Amino acid sequence: MQKTPETILEIDLNALEHNYQVLRSRILPKTRMLGVVKAFAYGSDSVAIAQKLEGLGVDYLGVAYGSEGVHLRKVGIRVPILVLHPQPNGMEGLIEACLEPSLYSPRILQEFIRIATDQKQQAYPVHLKFNTGLNRLGFWETDLEWIGRQLNATDAIEIRSLFSHLAASDDLGERDFTLGQIQKFGAIVNQWDKHFEVRPFKHLLNTSGVFNYPQAQWDMVRTGIGLYGYSNDPESDPLLRPVSKLRTKISQIHKIEPGEWVGYNKGYQAPDYRITATLPIGHADGIGRQYGQGKGVVYIAGMPAPIIGNVCMDMTMVDITGITCKEGDEVVFFGDRFSAEHLASRADTISYELLTGISQRVPRVITGA
Ligand SMILES: *Cc1c(COP(=O)(O)O)cnc(C)c1O
Repeated sequence: MQKTPETILEIDLNALEHNYQVLRSRILPKTRMLGVVKAFAYGSDSVAIAQKLEGLGVDYLGVAYGSEGVHLRKVGIRVPILVLHPQPNGMEGLIEACLEPSLYSPRILQEFIRIATDQKQQAYPVHLKFNTGLNRLGFWETDLEWIGRQLNATDAIEIRSLFSHLAASDDLGERDFTLGQIQKFGAIVNQWDKHFEVRPFKHLLNTSGVFNYPQAQWDMVRTGIGLYGYSNDPESDPLLRPVSKLRTKISQIHKIEPGEWVGYNKGYQAPDYRITATLPIGHADGIGRQYGQGKGVVYIAGMPAPIIGNVCMDMTMVDITGITCKEGDEVVFFGDRFSAEHLASRADTISYELLTGISQRVPRVITGA
């Protein structure tokens, strides 16, 4: 039997199922659910996650770029896939793979209509994205008339849904701002229903939206981070289970004399006798230099061991003084009880960045399938 590599990202599909059910329980039975699987399913494994979500009956999957959706189609995923940020050069491939683009600007709408017409498409499903305050992508409410003229002049596309995206749904200090976005989206939807005959479905909420503003769920929600076990809220986090667990094994243990240095550029100086462990994970694996200098902490035998000095490309050194362990013992960076959100916040970032940054060098091991 082949041995499991020392460093792995373990993907727990039972945890995914649990999180899926928790999120489902937070919305009405008739509300559709889109599972966001962009960026390798938040750095886990997009194929395993997409297959599991499809099996659980997810209504839609969401990716950022066409190529991500094409990959999912190649492995046999059949649920509708919304491409959130399609690029003009990927449109033909997108149609070939039956992916549904978000059209978010006049340029993208016209380009897509041109290509769909060239390909003699009829009523190809597309989604219209509106900007309600994030100011990232999307049409303005004032574009509705112009959109109407484009749609009247073609039958190559059909609007399947209208949506927008919240800027601060995780921040209850920005409640008024978010309620303003919800209201703005409501106004756009009303305008649409007044002036257009087609009845697309509507969606606005991401994970934190589901937890904090369920009244604005409309016909579908788009959940990403929650599926992977993080809610952006310390009170709701215990309801969810981390899907990804990053673990490795101690490569070597060193005894350091007082005053000795550890790592590149003398990143750490021992104040007294210290025991250190060298771990086979570095910034090329997604543990950036910002986790060095004591900011990041890993867990060995359940005990916290701070990262010392500078994180190297392929290695990280931690202080294990006082921890009973030996070379070859397991080390957990995050997962299970050890929250990626907690580790990320120690280095002034968020779970999203830490999770999606775990590089493709780290083998993924799927459990609970
Ligand atoms: C990434 C993304 C989501 C998912 O957000 P989470 O906070 O991870 O739930 C939803 N909608 C859009 C448009 C996105 O880009």
